[in-house]
Amino acid sequence: MARIYNFSAGPAMLPEEVLKEAAEEMLDYRGCGMSVMEMSHRSKVFQQIIDEAEADLRKLIGIPENYKVLFLQGGATLQFGMIPMNLMTVNKKADYINTGVWTKKAIQDAKLFGEVRVIASGEENGFKRIPDMKGLKVNPDADYVYMCDNNTIYGTKFKEYPDTGNIPLICDMSSCFLSEPIDVKKFGMIYAGAQKNVGPAGVTIIIIRDDLVARSAELPLPVYLRYAPHAENGSMYNTPPTYGIYICGKVFKWLLANGGLEKRKEANEAKAKIIYDYLDQSKFYKASVEKDSRSLMNVTFRTPSDELDAEFLEGAKKYKFTNLKGHRSTGGLRASIYNAMPIDGVKALVAYMKEFEEAHK
Ligand SMILES: *Cc1c(COP(=O)(O)O)cnc(C)c1O
Repeated sequence: MARIYNFSAGPAMLPEEVLKEAAEEMLDYRGCGMSVMEMSHRSKVFQQIIDEAEADLRKLIGIPENYKVLFLQGGATLQFGMIPMNLMTVNKKADYINTGVWTKKAIQDAKLFGEVRVIASGEENGFKRIPDMKGLKVNPDADYVYMCDNNTIYGTKFKEYPDTGNIPLICDMSSCFLSEPIDVKKFGMIYAGAQKNVGPAGVTIIIIRDDLVARSAELPLPVYLRYAPHAENGSMYNTPPTYGIYICGKVFKWLLANGGLEKRKEANEAKAKIIYDYLDQSKFYKASVEKDSRSLMNVTFRTPSDELDAEFLEGAKKYKFTNLKGHRSTGGLRASIYNAMPIDGVKALVAYMKEFEEAHK
């Protein structure tokens, strides 16, 4: 068996302990004689798996009682539409903070359901930094304010959340969920596709305050597209993504057993610092994002030319580093170093970066 350092932005690396445990339980989950994949979602055994996953997630983050946890399908992308459908339903207006591709997609969907006002945007500077949140003006009639915490593509991250007063703040945390502690009560709703930092593709985790769930109780929408039926049925209105929830549950246990989210933040800061420090002293590479907006999860950078970027990727193969290519919309290079990327992977990457710089400067 040869595991390699996979710098993919998602689906991404998972902790080896989790994969091993899942492998051991593949054919016979704890004496049931079947795999979790083959199990009825209405069985006692599966009920225990989903209940434990939710309880562990609540413990890990410290989710207050007045928030529901939902495990849905459809990826983060379905939320771009579900959020306005369910929540842009009071004044039919919402405020959006535009930090690039992911929020643009969310804005595009929201426009189908009401008036979108972009109250801050990083567009003028090519999304190389997070717009300043000091003095942000929120419209008092907004049904919610929408943001994306960590932009996976550019490698930007909010260091400070906007103060939206009584207006619910909705946050796409797909690529930084569980990378650091989360103060849930600052938000009306948080959501994350699992495949970046938490588990396999196919599960979207939603943490939503009860008053926002209630907004969808009577809406004339197909049942799957309303939050209320999912909340009332413990994410089992229909068949949930059972195997994905099982793996997410194991990742939650792994995080709890390894010092929780404070410890994760420390570890992620230490990993990111190794690459950013190297980039900042180098005259060859250039970090793509300004210092105060940098992501701990997705480190974006460039060599002096597109040709050298391509050569860098080619050379990375000899060390079996994969998925270092930047997003197709930005070009350049990107190392995604989520929770499961060990610090040795980051050190090995920087050693290769040095070697490449020496050979080409
Ligand atoms: C990947 C990603 C998405 C899209 O997720 P899907 O699961 O592919 O729909 C949305 N937002 C962010 C921040 C992402 O990183």
